[in-house]
Amino acid sequence: MSDCPYCGWPDDEPVQGVSRHPTAEGVLAWTRCACGSLQARVLTAGTVRIVTRGKPADGRPQDERRGAAR
Ligand SMILES: [Zn+2]
Repeated sequence: MSDCPYCGWPDDEPVQGVSRHPTAEGVLAWTRCACGSLQARVLTAGTVRIVTRGKPADGRPQDERRGAAR
């Protein structure tokens, strides 16, 4: 499983569920990460696939975060 590219939170432990929508492919679930990034994942039998991911809510440029040694 992957991690959030913004804060490193594991994608298999969503912090907050936003909504769920059953689709032909599986359940489309929107979740919000610890950093505020919104993501959509498709839950099918035994697998989870992240289909899209938004940016963190605080609006800081991600390149600055990644490069900063804090
Ligand atoms: Zn995150």
